[in-house]
Amino acid sequence: MFDKILIANRGEIALRVIRAAREMGIKTVAVHSTADSDAMHVRMADESVCIGPPPSPQSYLSVPAIISACEITGAQAIHPGYGFLSENAEFVQIVEDHDITFIGPTAEHIRVMGDKITAKDTMKELGVPCVPGSDGGVPDLATARKIGEEFGYPVIIKATAGGGGRGMKVAMSADEMESAFMTARAEGKAAFGNDEVYIEKYLTTPRHIEIQVFGDGKGNAVHLGERDCSLQRRHQKVFEEAPGPCITPEERAKIGKVCADAVAKINYIGAGTIEFLYENGEFYFIEMNTRLQVEHPVTEGIFGVDLVREQIRVAAGEPMSFGQDDLEINGHAIEVRINAEKLPNFSPCPGKITAYHAPGGLGVRMDSALYDGYSIPPYYDSLIAKLIVQGRDRAEALARLERALGELIVDGIDTTVPLFHALLQEPDIHSGNYNIHWLERWLAEHMAQ
Ligand code: ADP
Repeated sequence: MFDKILIANRGEIALRVIRAAREMGIKTVAVHSTADSDAMHVRMADESVCIGPPPSPQSYLSVPAIISACEITGAQAIHPGYGFLSENAEFVQIVEDHDITFIGPTAEHIRVMGDKITAKDTMKELGVPCVPGSDGGVPDLATARKIGEEFGYPVIIKATAGGGGRGMKVAMSADEMESAFMTARAEGKAAFGNDEVYIEKYLTTPRHIEIQVFGDGKGNAVHLGERDCSLQRRHQKVFEEAPGPCITPEERAKIGKVCADAVAKINYIGAGTIEFLYENGEFYFIEMNTRLQVEHPVTEGIFGVDLVREQIRVAAGEPMSFGQDDLEINGHAIEVRINAEKLPNFSPCPGKITAYHAPGGLGVRMDSALYDGYSIPPYYDSLIAKLIVQGRDRAEALARLERALGELIVDGIDTTVPLFHALLQEPDIHSGNYNIHWLERWLAEHMAQ
């Protein structure tokens, strides 16, 4: 096992990794920009290294600075968290070339899954059901039009290098194809330096269901059921739950096995998420994330496992601490993402926290790097806290969420907490009756944006 690991991240996820490491008796090294000298992850780690100025390209994304920090402190492994360098295959290669262990999948698996066309082809070969669409990349508008006719509108044009909801455009009819095709290409080029796009049938009322998988890199893998992340704004998740309110145990067992078998076959190591759209009882693969997800705590809640601990174990060459038969669902968990944003426009709202009180009590978990008097810097993601609640069933979890939100105090800045108070008044949220478009429609009706 490692003696010391470095966490190449900040905020709540850096704390999350520090906590797992501490329970395992492993020392931790935090890295931080000059804007984060007073950040909680710096305070909680055993050691810290300043790696550069505030903009992330010069600090949290600076590969030489992070490798140097490892060498100076003698850290044997790097946990990347999510975002930043977590899905950067070149970074992983460089880490390994310096004889440092990357706590995550291999560079090759990250590369394959990071290109959505290659990922889809690979999954198809592994027997995972995919959204019908173009066979690989679509080179020009004429081909795009032909595919539109063949599959029937609406279709979605997606950048193969896309992520975070960018590089995707829907064409509702043939009239919209030209602008959607050109925009998706331009966005892919501008944001990811790659203008290759592909086309999928646009599903009109799906839910977003993702399967958590975990492999040991030696051909063994398990699934940890699904998360329903259908409540999204601009293709970004805001509310996640496990198990999915509409998934039966038979469906879970079936799609879970398909996913676990697929990653076992490629000797996948560590945590991964296979994302699907789910409509009329069918699953359609959209992408695989080769890292820990923001919403992993809901899965941890219902299975009672520590996924970060498990990531560290397999990276150190130890076996997984559970097999498929050990994994049993217990209750229902919900996570809400609390952002430093001002409603109704969701405009970023960094600033100083004048008062902070985290909720507690039975079934409440608050993953946050906030503290009284902390100043949220304006340079990074606006996620400031994840409130995760668990109950014996969905109704109890929802009641607990309302209670916990009521206890939370974050003064000095605006947050998205009022959105969740309002959502909890909606019968559709209580019945679980929503798809990926529900929240956008609700926002249009209730919050003039
Ligand atoms: P990203 O990598 O940017 O997160 P994804 O491929 O995971 O992109 O898609 C993000 C979201 O976009 C999905 O959760 C869903 O809401 C929507 N989406 C993607 N593909 C389709 C599709 N074929 N039909 C309908 N909605 C889609």
